[in-house]
Parts: sequence; C-alpha cells; structure tokens
Amino acid sequence: MASNELPREYEELRSAPDLPFGKNYHIFVCYTRENLNEVCIIVENLEKEGYRCCYYERDFTAGQSVLENTDQAMNKSLHMLVILSEDLSTQPFVIHEIQEARHKSISDGYSIIPIKIEPCTVPECLKSITWIEASDDDVNCMHDKIIDAVVRNDIASGLKYPSNGETSFFFCNPGKTFAMSLPRFRLEIDPMKLLQNELQLTMEDKNDIETILNGSFLMKNMHIIVYFTRITLLVCASSIPLIIAVLMLLMVTTLGRNAEDAARGSAVVFYTFICSVLLMLALPLAFGACKKFGGFENVIKKGKEAIQRRLWKINRRYKTSHLFVLFQHNTRCIKIIKYNTKPCRTYLLRRCEKNEKLKDKLDASLPIEEAIDVLFDNFLRNDIQSVDRIVWPTRPTRHFLKNGAQCLCMQIEQYLSH
Ligand SMILES: [Zn+2]
Repeated sequence: MASNELPREYEELRSAPDLPFGKNYHIFVCYTRENLNEVCIIVENLEKEGYRCCYYERDFTAGQSVLENTDQAMNKSLHMLVILSEDLSTQPFVIHEIQEARHKSISDGYSIIPIKIEPCTVPECLKSITWIEASDDDVNCMHDKIIDAVVRNDIASGLKYPSNGETSFFFCNPGKTFAMSLPRFRLEIDPMKLLQNELQLTMEDKNDIETILNGSFLMKNMHIIVYFTRITLLVCASSIPLIIAVLMLLMVTTLGRNAEDAARGSAVVFYTFICSVLLMLALPLAFGACKKFGGFENVIKKGKEAIQRRLWKINRRYKTSHLFVLFQHNTRCIKIIKYNTKPCRTYLLRRCEKNEKLKDKLDASLPIEEAIDVLFDNFLRNDIQSVDRIVWPTRPTRHFLKNGAQCLCMQIEQYLSH
C-alpha cells in the first residue's frame, strides 16, 4: 500500500463509514475453503470495529447459485478483500470472481484489497494491484492493516462523507389560479430531480415538505409580499378616476346660481383636489413605511420561523437521513443540505471526554454519548441555520463541507465555551 501519511484525525477516519444506499457490506471476502479459519478470525475482528463483512460460509443464500450469490455480494459491498494463499491460485472459480471484481473496479470505483497471509505466488490478474504484506503477521492483527487499506481507498474514492455539504434547491414557482389574479406561489418538488441528485429523500418526506410549505401562512400570502409595490401603485392609479368623479360631482352640486355660491363652491373643489393629490402621494409612502417599519419584516420573520419549526419533523431524523431542509424566504426556495454529522458528533464526544469544562456543560444525568446527541438536537432545533453558516473568508473548519459552511462541532464547541 502507499506509505503516505494519513491525516491526523485517523482514529476518527478509521471508524466504519455509514453504508451508502443500496450497500449492505463494507467488505466482501474472497478466499478458498482452506483458509476459512483465518477468514473467520479476520472477519470477527473487522466486525468488532464496525465493518460489515460478507463471506460464503455464513452469508450466501441457500438455494441460489454460487455465481448469483457472488454477484449479489459484490454489488452490495464496497470493497473486496482477497485472501492470498498458495491454495488460491489453484482455484479457477476464485480467479473468475477476482476477474469479475477487477472489471467492476474499473467500471464503478469498487476496490480490491488483496492480503498475503502466507508466502505465495500472486495470481496473474492481481499482480498490478498493491497487496497487503501480512505473511509474517499474527492472524489476530491482520484486520488493522486491512482497515488501514480500506480507509485509504475510501479517502481516495471520496467515500468518507463525500457529499457532505452538497446542496440542492427547490424553488416555489408562481402559478395563476385565473387570468386576472396575482400569481400564487407553490412548492412542487419534481420527483425526478430528487432521484437525480441522490438525496434519498423519501416520497413521504417530499409530500410533507410540500404540505408544510404550501399550507403555511407565509406561503399563502407570499404573493402579497412579492407584489406589494405593484399592488400599492395599482391602488393609487385606480383611485384617480374615483377622485375625478368626486371632483366633478362636487362641481355640479356646489357651483350655485350666484357669484358667492360659485366662489365657495370652487374653494371646496380646490381643497378637495389638493387633499386628493396629497392623499395619492401619501398612500405609496404610507405603504412603503408600513412595509419597512410596520412589522412587515416581523411578520415575515415569524412566518419563516414557523415553517422551519414545522420542518423539524423531517430534520429531526438527521442522524439517519443526513439531510437538512431549510426554507429560504429571500429566494423563495427549499434548500436541502446533505450533511453527515457523525464525524462532528464523534469529535465533540472525544473533546468532552478530555475537557472537564466542556463536560460540565452537558446533561450529567445522561451517559455522555446520549448527552452529546441531546446537545446536537437542541442546538439544531434552536438554530437550524447553523448547518448553513458559511465561513468567510476561509476560517478553519474541522470537517470538510462542500458548501464552505463551518462544521457543527466547531460551532457547538464555541457555543459551549461561552
Ligand atoms: Zn465538525
């Protein structure tokens, strides 16, 4: 294997990543029956470290052909571990498996990790792949080298939280109910778009988001907010004929027979005219002031908060779904961020274990792991926007996020230490 140094957070990286959608195993083990004892020991040790393994004797489905089983196991796993021994090269069937896997590794990033557990010749088809040299190692320690190789491969292929911070937007589009009406805003998420960007948002979640957003007070009145200026101008413009009509009516009724009546009448008309003009000028100003200072912003803020509170129904499952749904009022859209918080939670757990001052801030009645989860839940519930807090200019962030946001463990640590 390449000998370049692993990042400092190795301990953290060493933990098994969550299995992506459609995968059941981290490692599929390829070996000959003669090495079953060693395989069992290696698998047991790997599984103790959280890596799910698959091997013939234990995991293959009875009644299916070996070929079918192998094919399935390969498709359901991330890596193939090949146990190299003197017996292996003599097994045509195993060689066929390896060749299949090699083909797969070329086509979709599947990695093959050979390990030499005894001095032996390496099959021709594996000669171009660097193998783990463990022929002098104790079988009980071999899993360490395997995990090391798996981690390196995962880093290389970007499997270690590859899409953390990846963001998708779904916009509320205006649509008219009838020709003369103002367009009403509605969110309709295209299911195809969901499939394309691999958000793994269920249809139920999609429907929930749509119901929450479209049923909210803010969204029901969004058209008024968006078209407020136009509505004001329309009110002013449509009042012009009304004012003219009133003036004409006044003229007809007040201009009397004699000069005195006429003078009084024209004064009334003149003042009414001045008042109308002033009113027309004042109307847009009053509307503008109302928009800016009259609690308009406050209504929007409250509306946004209400939506975000209701979206917690979906966001609360972040530990398993790795998704955060945020409502953005300015752009009238739903922003979905993919974010696996596990590295941040693990990191903060370790920090709290070492730092008494931080530990004191946690709920002492709970086991520390649960207390960290509660802390994350509360923090996110109160300030869900923290998953989208962009660091600018580039300040350090502990765990990489594609959207340039500061990772949660840093923010929560800052919050705890204040
Ligand atoms: Zn972090």
